[in-house]
Amino acid sequence: MIHNIVPEYISCVLLALIGVYMLFDKKSRSQKEKIFQFSVVFAIIANINNIFSIYTMENAARTPVLLNVTLHTFYYFAVAVLTTLVSITTYATMFEGRYDEPRLKTAIVISLSSFFAEVALVLINLATGWLFYFDESRMYHAGALNAIPLAFLAIAIFNIIIFGILERKRMKKSFRMIIIVLPTISVIIGLVQFLLPDTVLTGTIIGFALLTLFIAGQQQRARVDALTELSNREAFFNDISYLCQKKTPYCIIIIGLKNFKQVNGILGQRAGDALLYSVGFYLSQLEPCAVAYRTSGVQFTLVVKRMDLYEYEALFQSVIKRFSQPWKTDVCCAELRAVFADVHSPEHAVGVDEVIASLEYATRLAKEDPTGKPVRFSDQLKNQFARRNYVISQMEKALQQDLFFLNIQPVYDIKKQRFTGGEVLLRLNEDNGMPISPGEFIPIAIETGIATKLGLMVMEKTCRFLHANQDIDIGWLSINISSQQDEFDETVHHLEMLLEQYDIESERIKLEITEMVLLEDLERAHATMDELNLRGIGVYLDDFGTGYSNLVNVMTLPFECVKIDKGFIRNVATHPQSFGMLRTVVQGLRSMNVIALAEGVETEEQDNIVRELGIDRIQGYYYARPMATEEFAWLISESCPIYPIQTE
Ligand code: C2E
Ligand code: MG
Ligand code: MG
Repeated sequence: MIHNIVPEYISCVLLALIGVYMLFDKKSRSQKEKIFQFSVVFAIIANINNIFSIYTMENAARTPVLLNVTLHTFYYFAVAVLTTLVSITTYATMFEGRYDEPRLKTAIVISLSSFFAEVALVLINLATGWLFYFDESRMYHAGALNAIPLAFLAIAIFNIIIFGILERKRMKKSFRMIIIVLPTISVIIGLVQFLLPDTVLTGTIIGFALLTLFIAGQQQRARVDALTELSNREAFFNDISYLCQKKTPYCIIIIGLKNFKQVNGILGQRAGDALLYSVGFYLSQLEPCAVAYRTSGVQFTLVVKRMDLYEYEALFQSVIKRFSQPWKTDVCCAELRAVFADVHSPEHAVGVDEVIASLEYATRLAKEDPTGKPVRFSDQLKNQFARRNYVISQMEKALQQDLFFLNIQPVYDIKKQRFTGGEVLLRLNEDNGMPISPGEFIPIAIETGIATKLGLMVMEKTCRFLHANQDIDIGWLSINISSQQDEFDETVHHLEMLLEQYDIESERIKLEITEMVLLEDLERAHATMDELNLRGIGVYLDDFGTGYSNLVNVMTLPFECVKIDKGFIRNVATHPQSFGMLRTVVQGLRSMNVIALAEGVETEEQDNIVRELGIDRIQGYYYARPMATEEFAWLISESCPIYPIQTE
């Protein structure tokens, strides 16, 4: 009989292409991928052997029997090996991350038992000819059990289907298709083989099986997070943009794990990974109600489609409840702290970028909220978000077009009975001329990372102002610094360069910082402040009384001046408790030789009290409001001891 081996050539080329692709794919491989790689190489060898054995069989009379027997024996052996390898790769994917499952062990035991039975049959065949034999005239004959290897193949496929059905709920969606595709292809090829008996299709079956696994593997690699097996950020973006396009209503829940660094630090990376896997596994169980994603290291996202609001709320609450319970893994058991935020698809169409930005905003608010309440991107939040974006755009424009400007609020020295300096305050006006309060734009600048740039700009403008008014005794000017410690060192370096460039004595510039900037790392703060003092740049502690600072902290850092917050001063005339506290603070500062400055003095009564308590300096509307720099220059040059005056 003449065989048609064209399909074998084709599958050989197909497998070779997969092999070449893998050769150039430099990504690190998992155990499963290594088995797959070996399967492809082995399948190519088996295919070539198969083609060769068909030729030698057709030309049996001219071929040594030993060669024919060897090639055919290897053929049956290769079918057994490849059937087992394909089965194991399939099971490894089906049970990925759950390798301790007894069901996986059963599947492997069945596969390996079939393999050993088949190999035994191949070996026994050498003595019995049950599978095939060559007669004296070197002709090939099928043995009585020739169809048995095919039966083994059928058993393997049947097993995959059975385990696929048993595991269907726990399997990744992308992999479920394999359970349908693999058996379908096998049945089709089996039918073709039945109709065209002279066509050799063994390699084709194996080739298609490996190709299907390969495609599924590639899809998984691109869209799936390797650790949790959830869809990744990339997949989330794709899916969301599809939903936006189709205008399908959806709700998105963000779950951010808090303090996971500590979990890793205390329990170790392996336990951390196991915990993340458990969280991912729990979330994947919510399908088909919600599709879970791991959108960043410690952030998970659920997308819920077409669910009525009541059911959605129940789902959301059940997720929150689950996170209040411990997570158990093989290596540890731990409680995880999480924050929750959710966004509902808006009635009007929005782009994917807008959705992502609103999600980020809601998540950030959730992280900042100490009560840990879930944050919903409500209408109110939407307005807040829109305003924030507007302020960001105004700041960016102002930076580009140099629209920021300075005001200075004079500070009154009680002993010298005159203004001796002032605080530099940054100002920004909207396009329509309305001022945007620094209380609004500075926190946004800090969040968005613009604050350091603004800080450098304020320093530059201040130095330029001092340089331009060298002939007037402007005294000292204090600048607010809101950068974090890392950037703070850079800020100081920049200031030193400016002082030199504009020829300004360092005593004339003071840096105002809130405790948040320095108290993160007290040791480093000491070193930075000692350095500043050495160079003659005084540091003022701003807003004393609003944070967690206490006199003990203040005493450990060499502040030149402490600015007592206006909140402290507000009630000093009406609340005896506030009065008592202020007295204690001022006494403490005096004993430490630190200048005490009262912020926010607005009335004569408050003024009398702070003077009585021995405050050194006063900054407040009662003395002077923040004013344009030229006005300040004029005021201070005219400075005489008949103050206070009211300036509007
Ligand atoms: P701050 O550093 O505590 O500045 C003092 C604030 O108190 C100023 O508000 C000032 O106008 C206000 N103030 C002064 N006297 C009185 C008073 O008698 N009564 C009342 N109610 N308020 C008084 P402003 O200019 O709105 O600034 C608010 C905050 O914005 C500042 O608080 C500071 O934290 C920040 N800020 C302003 N300019 C800058 C800057 O250039 N850089 C940085 N990083 N922050 C700045
Ligand atoms: Mg200040
Ligand atoms: Mg202040």
